Amino acid sequence: MTSALQNAYFEQIQQLVELQKIDDAIYAANQEKEGAPRDLEELEARFQETETQRERILDKKSHLEAQQKRIDQEIEDDAGRLKKSKNKLMQVANSREYKAMESEMDTMEKISRSRKEERLTLLEELQTQEEAFKAIEGTYQELSAEVTKKRDGMEGRLKKIEKQLESLGKKRHKAAVLIPQPIFQRYEFIRKRLDHPVIVAVSEGVCSGCNIAVPPQTYIELQRGQQILSCPNCQRLIFWADHFQGMDGRAEAAPKQDAAAPEPDANPDASPSTEAAETADAASA
Ligand SMILES: [Zn+2]
Repeated sequence: MTSALQNAYFEQIQQLVELQKIDDAIYAANQEKEGAPRDLEELEARFQETETQRERILDKKSHLEAQQKRIDQEIEDDAGRLKKSKNKLMQVANSREYKAMESEMDTMEKISRSRKEERLTLLEELQTQEEAFKAIEGTYQELSAEVTKKRDGMEGRLKKIEKQLESLGKKRHKAAVLIPQPIFQRYEFIRKRLDHPVIVAVSEGVCSGCNIAVPPQTYIELQRGQQILSCPNCQRLIFWADHFQGMDGRAEAAPKQDAAAPEPDANPDASPSTEAAETADAASA
């Protein structure tokens, strides 16, 4: 058997849980709304970093390529000069002149050799940079496409969230006006000061808001189901999970058995009994 006080209590808990469900959706939408631009910023920062690295590699590459071009030209010039000298050598009769030219050619060959060595080192470095470029290019292209996609999708996503929030706001208003004012105000008071959510189930003696056992006296009172209580630890509103079906803390708060809303003819105006509600609220204060 349930008393009128219990009936009022169950109805109020149900109303609060309904409101909590709407607030859960609002909370999730707001999280997404705040998170979406942050996600994009993070992605853009990652892209920027990759782009800077990629440009640095490209700079190095083009610098090395210019050096290679210059050295190739110098090697070609060396070869031309050496060929000319060889031809000249054929025509020299005087042995002193011959020796002088021979030594000059020797020097030229030495220079040419060291240039070729320099070229090899250059080619190795160029190879390293080309490999680095190949390694970064894939990531760069992927991130670039991802940034574009996310930027394009952002506006639509935010608009959708706004619309969702608007309709949730209306739904919330409808749910809120059903709740007796003092109880609604108590809910709002907690909502504005504490972390989400406001009302939670107590299951097997443990508050699902803070995961701490409620004191035995509070638990006994909670099981009586006559007044809306707060968790002494986290201050959230609590209800006993066993009073309701399918409890997962915040899901359906449908009273078990016949403990639900008052009989239609027992309470003809069918609106929440303000008197009972206030009694319940005052009793818990
Ligand atoms: Zn708690």
